[in-house]
Amino acid sequence: MGSPLFHLITIIIIIIFFTMSVTSSKLNNYEHHQEEPTQFFTRCLTQSGVHNFSAHSNANNESSLYYHLLNFSIQNLRFSGNSSLPKPTVIVFPETKEQLAKTVVCARGSSLEIRVRCGGHSYEGSSSVAVDGGSFVVIDMMRLDHVSVDVDAGRAWVEAGATLGQTYSAIAEASPVLGFSAGSCPTVGTGGHISGGGFGLLSRKYGLAADNVVDAVLVTTDGELWNREAMGEDVFWAIRGGGGGVWGIVYAWNVQLSSVPETVTSFIVSRPGTMKQVSDLVDKWQNVAPKLNDDFYLSSFVGAGLPERKNKPAGLSATFKGFYLGPKNKALFVINESFPELKIVENDCKETSWIESVLFFSGLGTGSSVSDLKNRYLQDKLYYKAKSDYIRNPIPRLGLTTALEILEKQPKGYIILDPYGGAMQTISSDSIPFPHRKGNLFTIQYLVEWTETDTNKSNEYLAWIRGFHSSMTAYVSRDPRSAYVNYMDLDLGSMNWIKTRVDDDAVEKGREWGEKYFGKNYDRLVKAKTEIDRDNVFRHQQSIPPMSMENTNESSSRMSEMESVGNGICQSNSNMKELK
Ligand SMILES: Cc1cc2nc3c(=O)[nH]c(=O)nc-3n(C[C@H](O)[C@H](O)[C@H](O)COP(=O)(O)OP(=O)(O)OC[C@H]3O[C@@H](n4cnc5c(N)ncnc54)[C@H](O)[C@@H]3O)c2cc1C
Repeated sequence: MGSPLFHLITIIIIIIFFTMSVTSSKLNNYEHHQEEPTQFFTRCLTQSGVHNFSAHSNANNESSLYYHLLNFSIQNLRFSGNSSLPKPTVIVFPETKEQLAKTVVCARGSSLEIRVRCGGHSYEGSSSVAVDGGSFVVIDMMRLDHVSVDVDAGRAWVEAGATLGQTYSAIAEASPVLGFSAGSCPTVGTGGHISGGGFGLLSRKYGLAADNVVDAVLVTTDGELWNREAMGEDVFWAIRGGGGGVWGIVYAWNVQLSSVPETVTSFIVSRPGTMKQVSDLVDKWQNVAPKLNDDFYLSSFVGAGLPERKNKPAGLSATFKGFYLGPKNKALFVINESFPELKIVENDCKETSWIESVLFFSGLGTGSSVSDLKNRYLQDKLYYKAKSDYIRNPIPRLGLTTALEILEKQPKGYIILDPYGGAMQTISSDSIPFPHRKGNLFTIQYLVEWTETDTNKSNEYLAWIRGFHSSMTAYVSRDPRSAYVNYMDLDLGSMNWIKTRVDDDAVEKGREWGEKYFGKNYDRLVKAKTEIDRDNVFRHQQSIPPMSMENTNESSSRMSEMESVGNGICQSNSNMKELK
């Protein structure tokens, strides 16, 4: 993953580019009414002191700087390799919260659509493309990546352009006994990840990343910076799990850190076998993993081409990833008592600090070090498609066999089973928008990854994963068939905002996927959206719609109240000063 040399070259290119953009972006003398939206936008940026941007009009070919900057953070090749997809007219890289706010104001004034990007890992490319036909700009948060840790308070302010790897590194540099509950991929961005919930190895103990957000600073559609108090509890509730790119731009999260012991235990073991043997292990896993002690996390990856079987005989296998908040003798005791069939031995277990365990599960290559966690460039990018399900009752043997037969035929596909239980079931299902709590045993994440550029091959893989998902209908949650918003899946439905009016139809249309992601919390999300962004400035194909104007009389007075409070409070908020 990302060599230091590559990273350095990228930084140099970006610096050169910033310098170039200052000189190339001389003010146009167009009157507003004579200007194209993009001209208005770039002139507005320059006049506002925002110089770090690149315009599509300056890109002569796909090796130009514009494409380098655009593709740097597009992590799924489905959204960068395809040159027929619409491209942003401008990509902007604000360097301060003030520049971020001014960028929003300029975009709004130009009537260009806005896409917000942090790590760029959106499964459906929602941070980098807009497919509804409108011209759009990308506001890329990568320059806003500072993390400030207050060890005494056990909290951190995390600028929402920081990746998880940058966040974990900063926490570990400040203290060996503090951690943060979030996902395991270091290049995933806090901007998108926390906005959708954020499940990880500490979640059975401490909940999701979003459960641990205690304050935030949101850039509103009017370019104001609102903290928790100013945005109000409905909006503060919505931004913690209601999905990214919908409420405004989160400039920074204030998060509660979690205690971790100085020594933790990790293992990754691969168990190949016949269909019966793999099925037996997965069956045992589903009955054990969600009930393990909160200090234990045990996930299962199942497929016929898992990385752990590389250069080994092909065939079905299950990989088990275990993590324990304590020393290995205790980890061994717990796992061997509850899951002796896994045959974990002392040699499988690695005792390390928490940050070294983050590296262990990061997927970074052999020889990587903790400092590599900060690198935000993802090497070896792939084309991929994912889908998700929630399991409330153990999958019967027939369901497991169905899944294994499908997996056996497609080595490019696999599933990840993530255990819930523990804190995930004690937090109430309306505490934040993420509703999948009590009664959910685990998630299935279906994935297929490929390298071929051929569209027919892509369609084959897409058809495979859709068929797989459909074959599992009888064995997964229903009414609704739930899904995880961070595993965004446009097969669940999507909105074309150019064609859809913001009216009650939009709210009902959004319910198609909104209730799958958010259950009964969907309506409260619509209410929050109406409060914070009734003009639907921040949107994408699966964003929460606002209510139509006729239905908003009641909420309008509340909004005016909030606006006057917000105007007075936000720019001088003392918490925000801690950051810069
Ligand atoms: C390899 C990999 C591993 C993953 N592992 C996990 C895991 O362990 N646990 C888990 O829960 N999820 C996991 N995910 C899913 C991941 O959490 C989501 O894809 C998440 O949305 C990615 O956030 P991002 O900032 O990287 O992506 P982006 O594409 O930049 O953003 C995703 C969405 O959030 C919006 N957004 C981004 N920044 C902001 C901001 N500052 N303010 C408002 N909106 C914003 C974007 O507009 C977009 O709609 C994984 C994904 C991948 C590809």
